[in-house]
Amino acid sequence: MIKKLTQKDLICHLNMPIFSIIGEEADALGRECYVVGGYVRDIFLNCPSKDIDCVTVGSGIELAQKVAKRLGRGAHLSVFRNFGTAQVKYKGMEVEFVGARKESYSHDSRKPVVEDGTIEDDQNRRDLTINDMAICLNQNRFGELVDPFNGMEDLDQGLIRTPLDPDITFSDDPLRMLRAIRFACRFEFKIVPDTFEAIARNRERIKIISGERIIDELNKIMLCRKPSIGWALLQRCGLLQIIFPELQALAGIETREGRGHKDNFVHTITVLDNVCRAESEAGREPNLWLHWAALMHDLGKARAKAWDEKIGWTFHNHDYLGSRMVLPIFRRLKLPLGAEEKYVEKLVLLHMRPINLAEETITDSAIRRVLFEAGDDIDDLMTLCEADITSKIPEKVRRFLDNFKLVRRKMQEIEEKDRIRNWQPPVDGIEIMERYHLTPCREVGILKDSLKDAILDGICGNNREEALAFLDSKAHEIGIL
Ligand code: ATP
Ligand code: MG
Repeated sequence: MIKKLTQKDLICHLNMPIFSIIGEEADALGRECYVVGGYVRDIFLNCPSKDIDCVTVGSGIELAQKVAKRLGRGAHLSVFRNFGTAQVKYKGMEVEFVGARKESYSHDSRKPVVEDGTIEDDQNRRDLTINDMAICLNQNRFGELVDPFNGMEDLDQGLIRTPLDPDITFSDDPLRMLRAIRFACRFEFKIVPDTFEAIARNRERIKIISGERIIDELNKIMLCRKPSIGWALLQRCGLLQIIFPELQALAGIETREGRGHKDNFVHTITVLDNVCRAESEAGREPNLWLHWAALMHDLGKARAKAWDEKIGWTFHNHDYLGSRMVLPIFRRLKLPLGAEEKYVEKLVLLHMRPINLAEETITDSAIRRVLFEAGDDIDDLMTLCEADITSKIPEKVRRFLDNFKLVRRKMQEIEEKDRIRNWQPPVDGIEIMERYHLTPCREVGILKDSLKDAILDGICGNNREEALAFLDSKAHEIGIL
């Protein structure tokens, strides 16, 4: 339930001088002016934002120039002539000024024909009723709410709805479908059936939206308290099949001889929520890339799935297969291809390791190996693995969590003793080439890897002398000495 605010309350919320200055300058130009959109919504939700959008009937740039001049030295003005907008930065606030506009779309073009319009025209082209309230800043109407589509009521009821016919709203600008889902996820609101059905009907239109704008929305969904809400909606309306078919492929349950496997899509988004909850319980900032790793950790299961007469459903090697899917998907979704991609790929590849450790008797060398391969990301890997336990059988969950505690304790002991995390073997590739007169070749790799393995397995001591002796015997064995 939100607090219903009266004009008097709204005047209190707008008591910063900047609002009255904007109103006075608009009056001097003889123009209507309103604060609109997210800022108004957030006043009602009682989470004031620093981003303020102002709409005026006429030129937004001209009004911004007047306001910046009035505010004087503390204000910084940027003008974007191409877009007909201007921004004033002042005391940590960013005020965007635009002229009220009327948009008309034709089916085959993404770009609308934009004309100057009234505040009513401007409200007609907005995405959702909750984002479509305006508060007047002109002096004689200061604090008056203009809410033609009952946004306040929808905000109160927790409803996502388009102001006008949803088929037209979504077909005009299909990005709005993702925005509707993003806001449903962020505020944990329900999308009204009419609006939701229109998303399903218009889903193919998403193809005209650029990858960059899509990923922007997906990343915002990823950073919500419960991203599963957004992903489940994307799945239900059919958008997931278009923008992320590899994830859609995990949905559903197949049954053979009375044995079904779990729905791996539902499992995946539960794991994602678990990661978010773990971060918040630990007081950590959300790590967007850990969230992507959680979403992608089981992607390989669609391809790895097999039926074994004796054991039932198996997903052998899905960790490896999944890790190989990360780069092409990052590329297609326009996610960054540097360290972030490597990190996600690594976590996907390693996500079964701690679970396997917990199931077997835990040897020091197995722990050393995971520490070495995960490096500084070991804590994130453990967070992911714990989040991965979504069994409904309490006994099973407890057993896993107890084993994990043991694994964590062992890891700490070994890390303190052997400092594996950022460890490098005592002899590197260059020295190996010099010692055996080799140019870069397969043998150098073999020697390097076998030395690393021998030290991690505790066969060879972690010092130069023993390492060189080990290398010599290995070189002999493979016939280069
Ligand atoms: P946030 O807190 O994420 O910034 P916001 O509602 O302020 O939320 P913005 O993207 O900053 O979102 O947009 C500001 C306002 O512009 C919205 O509240 C909405 O009224 C309008 N808007 C933004 N994008 C669209 C769109 N694609 N179609 C229609 N209206 C839009
Ligand atoms: Mg905003």
